[in-house]
Amino acid sequence: MRGGAMALMPEEFSQLDLPTSFKIYVQYLVYWIANDRSKPELSHDNARYFYLAYIAVARVIDSIEQSLVASSAWVDGFRVDLNRFPEYSATGIASVPGCEACHFRQNRTATFCVTLSGTPYSRLELAPPRSVEYLASSEADCDTADVAGDDGAGSMTAMYKVGRTCKQRSELCHELHHYFYHLAHYVDIALLPALSKEGANDQSDLNPDDLVSTLEEEGVIDRLFHDFKSLLTRAKAGFTT
Ligand SMILES: [Zn+2]
Repeated sequence: MRGGAMALMPEEFSQLDLPTSFKIYVQYLVYWIANDRSKPELSHDNARYFYLAYIAVARVIDSIEQSLVASSAWVDGFRVDLNRFPEYSATGIASVPGCEACHFRQNRTATFCVTLSGTPYSRLELAPPRSVEYLASSEADCDTADVAGDDGAGSMTAMYKVGRTCKQRSELCHELHHYFYHLAHYVDIALLPALSKEGANDQSDLNPDDLVSTLEEEGVIDRLFHDFKSLLTRAKAGFTT
């Protein structure tokens, strides 16, 4: 890897701001994509560098997501399905009494049908490899539960008729929970021109650092960060509706 990032001392990591952490994590995704979408071999220092940046971004996302969940009184099945399926769509329907998503169901009127779909996955796949010393028990991740019971049967769907508030909050919550999954997809798409230009026949020749530079020069990382901040703003506003 290029740059002076490897020279950072542990206490300096805690001073990394959100834009820097975000950029470092996108850099990791480029390494991951260039390594055939699997965890790349990294030195101890590089693993630490990427992992701490990932945790900094994940904490911001998780805290807003947890607040949204805490204020939403959703039934367990709905919450599990929100976390399980990476695709979300909502369509307006003729009003029917009751909301299938929350404990206020009797007092609500459903005006949307929410469809959750896609192949369940583990968010751990998108986390940089970490060395044992950073494996805090609090990060030992409940996400494996997301794929529990999935025996590789592939895509399924779940549908709920929900009220307006549950639709609005669940859409935000879902976008937060699956943010890394969709971010990896956006980075993947942004890399397509560069990958084909450099001759995709021999991907082993591709230098991830060059790919990162290309994304930076094209303003892709700035644009992704702008979209990320806008998601955080929309999600915070979701509490008050
Ligand atoms: Zn509801």
